[in-house]
Amino acid sequence: MAEDPTFGNHVGGRSVPGAAGRRFTATDPSSGQPWGSFVDSDAHDVDAAVRAAAGAFAGAWAQLSATRRGRLLGAWGELVAANAETIARMESTQNGKLLAEMRAQARAARDWLHYYGGLADKIEGRVIPLERASVLNYTLREPLGVVGVIVPWNSPTFLTLMSCAPALAAGNTVVIKPSEVTSASAFELVRLAEEAGIPPGVLNVVTGGAAAGAALVDHPQVAKVCFTGSDAAGRAIAARAGARLASCTLELGGKSPNIVFADAPVDNAVVGILSGIFAAAGQTCIAGSRAYVHESIYGAVLDRLVQRANSIRLGHPLAADTQMGPAATTAQLRKNEAMVARALEAGGQLACGGRRAVVPGLEQGFFFEPTIVHGMAPDNPLLQEEVFGPVLAVTSFRSDDEVVALANGTRFGLAAGVWTRDFARAHTLARRLQAGTVWINTYRALAFNSPFGGQKDSGLGRVNGIEAVDQFLQTKSVWCETSDEIQDPFVMKV
Ligand code: NAD
Repeated sequence: MAEDPTFGNHVGGRSVPGAAGRRFTATDPSSGQPWGSFVDSDAHDVDAAVRAAAGAFAGAWAQLSATRRGRLLGAWGELVAANAETIARMESTQNGKLLAEMRAQARAARDWLHYYGGLADKIEGRVIPLERASVLNYTLREPLGVVGVIVPWNSPTFLTLMSCAPALAAGNTVVIKPSEVTSASAFELVRLAEEAGIPPGVLNVVTGGAAAGAALVDHPQVAKVCFTGSDAAGRAIAARAGARLASCTLELGGKSPNIVFADAPVDNAVVGILSGIFAAAGQTCIAGSRAYVHESIYGAVLDRLVQRANSIRLGHPLAADTQMGPAATTAQLRKNEAMVARALEAGGQLACGGRRAVVPGLEQGFFFEPTIVHGMAPDNPLLQEEVFGPVLAVTSFRSDDEVVALANGTRFGLAAGVWTRDFARAHTLARRLQAGTVWINTYRALAFNSPFGGQKDSGLGRVNGIEAVDQFLQTKSVWCETSDEIQDPFVMKV
């Protein structure tokens, strides 16, 4: 790949320049230097991509049987996994996340696409047993049409595939609008899809920022929007889509708690909390950004967390011994600083970190220290709002009821961790916690066949698992009268 790559949009199997000729440059957050030039797409560019997707929906993709479509998804997964290193390097260079994490996510594409490829020919209707035996009533489960997939920068390939795989398995076609921070890997994904035999036009890519995303949401031929990103953008997108009655799946942010009881396997709990907040420099929707620790072990656990946080190795995300890379953007770096400052103004106490970090050799990089704040009231902004950075809020609790109220006391509901050896307590909490995922004695685990999504402001709908395919289908009821009996035209048949 060239030193400073230049990309067009990918429409109908071809690389095309933007209609207006506007472009933007992305930045390598480790060096602060520009990396890659992309089309700043406008409504004309989006229209071209949606038309290509609509053409493939009515044509080449519809002509393939579900079994053939499924096989193509599987073949695509193999190619993505085989090219995981290239994809991961592109992503780490653009979002600053560890190469090892980006590589593992790209390799996991094989499982995701194999699973949804296998589901493609298991999408079946039903025969409904009506009161009137002369009527054969059955259902067809049909694709929606063109799906707009809008993704954030933190796990570009992984999140793109979580949306695209079930959408394609259901028979839809797709226009992807990647994040302006990490646009490059989407082109590699689509190139590999076409190499696997997925017809041109089934997957298209338009780059750009919020304006390009909004044009996709507004396009009358986009039947559904599958959005992953911040709750603010999700709200704006749902409102726009709602204005023209297009449906949305929304995978949004979180303020997820890790709850550590006195009888917890404490060594594992400490590792779970660390992985929840400092892996990926906190730039993950499922960041365990709040830790509630029982008062009897609070001091000891806080000390261990601080000790471990202080020993995290910051460095270049492509280096094998780096444990935490930079923030992806200067905006995110500023948000980390601002959120810590607000937390301290509101009474929080800094246990460690709290500042921009300088990494030797990468002085212009957007690094931030692993940070822990404690001693906060429940309404402290750090216990209420998503940071999306390596900032952990730690609080003590006394009783199960108290910690359930604290854990549920935000507008988010994406995930929660419960650490205890008491199974009755663990499963009771699993029911009481308002979260789309509850992990018991583990954290930050995902699987292609386990549904994932948010409650409350963390989202609508589910990705992963069989449930995800349902988001991309509509049900048609077909009535077939088999008797010749003449019926009364003025009475509805019930
Ligand atoms: P973001 O909301 O700023 O942007 C996400 C995408 O939406 C980008 O492609 C962006 O260009 C586009 N966009 C932004 N505003 C838009 C608008 N008004 N109309 C149309 N498109 C618009 O999010 P981000 O900063 O890229 O990512 C971080 C956020 O994503 C965090 O809140 C994180 O929790 C969330 N996230 C959620 C999940 C999940 O599965 N629940 C996974 C990863 C990240």
